[in-house]
Amino acid sequence: MRNSSVQRVLVTGGAGFLGSHLCDRLIAAGHDVICVDNFYTGSKDNIRHLIGNPRFELLRHDVTFPLYVEVDRIFNLACPASPIHYQRDPVQTTKTSVHGAINMLGLAKRLHARILQASTSEVYGDPEVHPQTEDYWGRVNPIGTRACYDEGKRCAETLFFDYHRQHRLEIKVMRIFNTYGPRMQPDDGRVVSNFIVQALKGEPITIYGDGNQTRSFCYVDDLIEGMLRLMETGPDVPGPINIGNPGEFTMRELAEMVVRQTGSKSSIVYMPLPSDDPRQRRPDISLAREKLGWAPTVALEEGMARTIDYFRTVVAA
Ligand code: NAD
Ligand code: UDP
Ligand code: UDP
Repeated sequence: MRNSSVQRVLVTGGAGFLGSHLCDRLIAAGHDVICVDNFYTGSKDNIRHLIGNPRFELLRHDVTFPLYVEVDRIFNLACPASPIHYQRDPVQTTKTSVHGAINMLGLAKRLHARILQASTSEVYGDPEVHPQTEDYWGRVNPIGTRACYDEGKRCAETLFFDYHRQHRLEIKVMRIFNTYGPRMQPDDGRVVSNFIVQALKGEPITIYGDGNQTRSFCYVDDLIEGMLRLMETGPDVPGPINIGNPGEFTMRELAEMVVRQTGSKSSIVYMPLPSDDPRQRRPDISLAREKLGWAPTVALEEGMARTIDYFRTVVAA
């Protein structure tokens, strides 16, 4: 007989950066995990250590197609997150967010399963409200090069709330702010992995624009803790809820920190700013503090040191 405290959990995008850390935490807590991934940006290396574990099952599957499995919880993370990857096949990016959400919501509806959506601070676009609170509707260019991701994620949020209202689904919508840590792909294209890999290889560090744009960086362990807490909240907390680290840094400060911490001789070069690149981003996490008792615990310096240690092993290999 099944132990009632053991959940059967589906993680879509489970071979990705965040998904693989989530699988680790769920397996460590004694749950059964089905990891679904089409390996578009994810890697078997991220979950290789779990293959063979009797509680872990890996399915190569694209969430834009229907999926029939039996689970109690669904974490919907499938979607490329880095601009260079999500802009490579923008139509597929929108399909992944929208068709993927419909399929996973249909699955949750049939099973009466609780479902969490990995949404994003990108729903705020280039924000005029700073820091961003959940009640801010955002400023997104609907026809720009980031729209496949931003609008796809916004539509997914709409679908989650309509399934909630129309079909009484138990939903959790989490707005994730920039997150970093071990298992980011070295060629992922996001700023933290780019800067660290460039510094470790002694290559020029590429700042896009003048480097005065800001981001707030959350260490992956903090983020996953917030995600797990959100999933286990009661029906009065559907979200959306911001999870991120309110520490705000310019890209220039980040580059200088990476050079200092790696002891690199890399120079800093300035390159054109991609279109629609948000000027500033910082979460207001009052709601997460109140509803989840959650706040980040890992400061950027410390998280960067751990991430640099990880990339030393990858870049040397
Ligand atoms: P990632 O690219 O490492 O992981 C995404 C995973 O989804 C990959 O394993 C990829 O192969 C898989 N995938 C993509 N399309 C798929 C499809 N159609 N079917 C099945 N699998 C598919 O990115 P990540 O940083 O781990 O992000 C995970 C989720 O969190 C994404 O939904 C992303 O939008 C969201 N998010 C991440 C951040 C961040 O800073 N890391 C910020 C905001 C939101
Ligand atoms: N779906 C799925 N697995 C399930 C149930 C549904 O993948 O176990 C998909 C299916 O493709 C369906 C979609 O989810 O089209 C939406 O399901 P819903 O029941 O909301 O709508 P309908 O079946 O009427 O399209
Ligand atoms: N960025 C940069 N150099 C890089 C990669 C990114 O200066 O090599 C900048 C990018 O223009 C943006 C910020 O860093 O202003 C964060 O970019 P990322 O792609 O990591 O995330 P997002 O823009 O989606 O927040």
